[in-house]
Amino acid sequence: MSSCLFCEIAAGRIKAEIIHEDEGCLAFRDISPKAPSHILVIPRRHLDGLNDLVGPDSAAADGLLAAGVMAAHAEGLAPGGYRFVINCGQDGGQSVGHLHLHVLGGRPLAWPPG
Ligand code: AMP
Repeated sequence: MSSCLFCEIAAGRIKAEIIHEDEGCLAFRDISPKAPSHILVIPRRHLDGLNDLVGPDSAAADGLLAAGVMAAHAEGLAPGGYRFVINCGQDGGQSVGHLHLHVLGGRPLAWPPG
């Protein structure tokens, strides 16, 4: 899957500012932050998006959430709070076809999102 941007980041061939990493996931700073802290968490193994979290692959969700919480702690977001977002497909606003969790924080976040 060499044409996938986030696979390239996971492989270290495209640079990113890493916040947290473990065996299954990588957390790095979003290149176009929408909040003072904006981190993306990806599974190292390619999954297109939320719709792939079925059957045996559904287990990837646990690692993704846990890595997101670790990234939030590493970023100092835990005391004030933060938000997880996963965009799915065209209507969900997904622009990169590799499953990723947005971790947003560092300011009060409006609700509902647009
Ligand atoms: P989404 O629109 O939910 O698919 O989110 C994709 C995110 O990837 C956007 O917030 C982009 O700013 C971010 N992004 C795109 N290219 C890079 C990159 N090379 N490094 C870090 N973040 C990126």
